[in-house]
Amino acid sequence: MHLHGTSKIAPEGHLTIAGVSAVSLAQRYGTPLIVYDEQLIRTRMHEYLDPLRASGVAHAVVYACKAFTSVAMCRLAAEEGLWLDVVSAGELHTALTAKVDPSRILMHGNNKTEAELKMAVEARIGLIVVDNFDEIERLAGITAGATERTNVLLRVAPGVDAHTHEYIATGKQDSKFGFDLQSGQVQRAVQVILKHSSLQLVGLHSHIGSQIFDVDGFRVAAERMAALYAQIEREFRASLSILNLGGGLGVRYTEEDMMPPIDRAVAGILDVTQTAFAANGLTLPMIMFEPGRSLVAEAGTTLYSVGSRKDIPSIRSYVAVDGGMTDNPRLALYGARYEACLANRMLAPADKTVSIAGKCCESGDMLIWDAVLPSPEPGDLLAVSCTGAYNYSMASNYNRMARPAVVFVRDGQARLVLRRETLADLISLDVDEEGSHEGP
Ligand SMILES: *Cc1c(COP(=O)(O)O)cnc(C)c1O
Repeated sequence: MHLHGTSKIAPEGHLTIAGVSAVSLAQRYGTPLIVYDEQLIRTRMHEYLDPLRASGVAHAVVYACKAFTSVAMCRLAAEEGLWLDVVSAGELHTALTAKVDPSRILMHGNNKTEAELKMAVEARIGLIVVDNFDEIERLAGITAGATERTNVLLRVAPGVDAHTHEYIATGKQDSKFGFDLQSGQVQRAVQVILKHSSLQLVGLHSHIGSQIFDVDGFRVAAERMAALYAQIEREFRASLSILNLGGGLGVRYTEEDMMPPIDRAVAGILDVTQTAFAANGLTLPMIMFEPGRSLVAEAGTTLYSVGSRKDIPSIRSYVAVDGGMTDNPRLALYGARYEACLANRMLAPADKTVSIAGKCCESGDMLIWDAVLPSPEPGDLLAVSCTGAYNYSMASNYNRMARPAVVFVRDGQARLVLRRETLADLISLDVDEEGSHEGP
């Protein structure tokens, strides 16, 4: 396993993160435990901000909360000057609870409910990214008669599908998100928005995919968006001021993933976007990036206790841990690949190939196929790296498993940011008509 951020091996062979021993964290908080290297999150945020600041272009980096949200995470992002992207009442409530400046929140979603739109308008969030015709009407209804206009971005499906090293220039017309560019839906949407005096169209949005390793897809999207931007300003005499290029930059889940440094990718995307706007006789508007995964994935490590083993002669060795698809469903969902180590025996030779299983009643409940580790034994502490994005936020209570605790570590100190779910939490929604749940 390659070590991210402040992760190191201490002389006694323990994994440390930000100078804190994983073994002591497991003792103190229990397992499974998700540990975030707070400094690494902040470093990644700066890798976005630095090239943008250096360019002199107006900009915002918007953290896509869906990757991992908590009140502490929202505060951290706001502290570093980031905006927040929320996609539900729950994410918005979390951001507002964190006392984030509402004017630095934007809301996404392909089916924002009436209640969610009302909540967003009442909280006076900065931007609503409109996604479809029904939503324009719904939002116009909610805002009709208001004294202040509601700022909206229009989500364009630019027909670029980017994933890892490849992109398809016409690949993603078939998507539930945004207005289709090829068929002229975008232009119709602009006309509809301009008709509503309570809505102010301030810019365009595109998001072309996730776990992207190079800028080619962004270049094609930027070219299409620049041409569209110019056309909208010219034909509709709309004055736009924002281009949001979405998120999607990739991370190193395993040694095989090769990602250029974020600051270089951001500078490259900025460069191709500037060229595309210049080709349309325009200077760059305010540029927004909307990363999720690349800010938090590598900063997260999940610690599990090894519980039981099953050796099937000449077939496979299973090692089961005390979590699984309930805290990390990404292998089950996407076939995602992870790396692991034994956090209590980092110096022991890795000489056994084992597959790491969870404890759910589901054969697909696997974390890693064929990891090479020092032969794991019950009581060992298994660390899976790069679990900071789309793990906790996708966690479930399948089998009535409790969601793990989450800690942030920094400069030798740990702080609990999400406590472990308890058995009481797990029955807290049950309505028992027979009476109360009071204990014995
Ligand atoms: C998921 C998503 C993001 C963040 O994507 P990452 O791959 O996590 O960076 C940004 N914007 C939108 C609209 C998204 O759906």
